[in-house]
Amino acid sequence: MTESDSAVPYDYDAIVIGSGAGGGPAAFELTKAGRRVAVIEAGGFYTTNDFSRFELLALRNLWWTPRWTSNYEIGLKDEIALGMGRCVGGSTTIFTAVAHRMPDWNYKEWFESTGIRNEEGLPFSREDLEPYYDQVEKDTSVRQYTEWDEGLKKINQGFTKLGHPFHSVNAYINKNCDQSGCLFGCPTEAKRGTLVSYIVPAVLLGAEVIHNSTVTKILFSSASGEKTKAEGVEYINDMGEAKRLRSRTIILAAGALNDPFLLWDSGIDEASGSSPSSKQIGRNFGVNTATIVFGRFDDVLNNWVLHPLSGQMEDFAQKEKGGFLLEASEVMEGPLSFAEFIVDEEGLPLWGERQKEILRAYKHYAGVFVNIHDENDGRVLRDRETLQQKFHKPITNKDKERISKARELCREAFNEAGAKSTLDSIYASHHVQGTCRMGQDPSKSVVDLNCESHDISGLYVVDGSILPSVIDANPSLTIMALSLRAAKHLKSLPRA
Ligand SMILES: Cc1cc2nc3c(=O)[nH]c(=O)nc-3n(C[C@H](O)[C@H](O)[C@H](O)COP(=O)(O)OP(=O)(O)OC[C@H]3O[C@@H](n4cnc5c(N)ncnc54)[C@H](O)[C@@H]3O)c2cc1C
Repeated sequence: MTESDSAVPYDYDAIVIGSGAGGGPAAFELTKAGRRVAVIEAGGFYTTNDFSRFELLALRNLWWTPRWTSNYEIGLKDEIALGMGRCVGGSTTIFTAVAHRMPDWNYKEWFESTGIRNEEGLPFSREDLEPYYDQVEKDTSVRQYTEWDEGLKKINQGFTKLGHPFHSVNAYINKNCDQSGCLFGCPTEAKRGTLVSYIVPAVLLGAEVIHNSTVTKILFSSASGEKTKAEGVEYINDMGEAKRLRSRTIILAAGALNDPFLLWDSGIDEASGSSPSSKQIGRNFGVNTATIVFGRFDDVLNNWVLHPLSGQMEDFAQKEKGGFLLEASEVMEGPLSFAEFIVDEEGLPLWGERQKEILRAYKHYAGVFVNIHDENDGRVLRDRETLQQKFHKPITNKDKERISKARELCREAFNEAGAKSTLDSIYASHHVQGTCRMGQDPSKSVVDLNCESHDISGLYVVDGSILPSVIDANPSLTIMALSLRAAKHLKSLPRA
């Protein structure tokens, strides 16, 4: 910041970067508390009437072009497609709406990862998050979703015979759900992601949403002897113009894949004097590596007419019990994505006659979504020469064991349920986490218990990147709860 900049008054009490699970709740809470809030979102502001089953258009308008790991660079063969939303509401506009509270063993793993403790000095636990989970569930109309599709009913018959029945998930979906889709935006507003539950209500209370606008830099200022402070942001607006806004509170919620790059581009290394905490940025990347096992039945299931994931089976979720969690039923909702996901026995994408034959039978397929509980052993980084964004996330032998045990169980269950054949899919992740972990120890984390940067005062991170270690599955409820927790702290501070 220049001297003349510092004479300019602050434009907002808080600027939120990103409007998904992390950005939405904090933006709403602060606006409700009378703060002047701007939300800057890279994607477009689409609402209920814009959402349809036009798969190609939805993938273009609402989804970030999928990024892939480049594990080949670290000598590994298997790659993971990393998916997320790019629109107001972020990934919660295209998510499958499972609202999952994390089990006790995840808190234990958090403590083991960063030594995170609550304000009383005790290991961070269920009691620390429960009031915020309660609030998010109320705000987003979470209920038990019992309207199972035909595919899930079949799948459950098989798993029940094996002694592992599915149960209904809790979902951010009200009774208006007509099962017309999740992954391309909800055309009935029944799905209560952050777009509907937090962003639109925040706008009605006076928050400004600056959409189709990408933050390129967070501005810092430092006076001698003082801790470096957040001062504002630079962004490119929908007309391609470079703009600047000032605020002393910057809430970064651009998602685990984006935060590291924005922090590095903002010069956090220099501003922090290459602190131990700045060295943690981009590390500890975790993804819940996922894959789908599809079963083909004689009956027509029409499983694209559905809420994709209505049932869950957690018997093997704990690492010691297998380390995988199953959800069903899933056919990727659109034939294009289904066609891209299916692989042959070697794990290679299907094509030619075999692919055509399978696509003709699309309405006979139902799938089980396998989420493994993997490690935070990945890394987000920038290639020093080409400046390209890179994502490394090994699928280790241990992970392969988890995947192969899960696939075997699914095949057995499909067989019991009367499926004629099964198919595997590529590896994907919709649950990117880590990269700016939360904890008190700056040598193990990037933000503290209030989600404030260890190095820059007034800079907060409140999205999936702060989770200290990967949770079993479905991280959005936990991210929203942490966002409300951070907002409570922010509301207690004097205005800028
Ligand atoms: C297809 C799919 C299905 C899912 N299903 C479930 C589910 O059933 N249950 C569950 O719990 N979780 C689910 N998830 C995961 C969940 O949606 C995410 O974990 C959660 O939304 C992550 O929150 P976030 O705030 O970290 O990021 P996001 O919600 O992804 O929000 C980040 C936002 O920041 C914006 N942004 C990025 N960079 C910039 C920038 N420089 N300037 C301005 N804006 C920027 C992005 O466009 C995006 O809108 C699913 C995800 C996907 C993709």
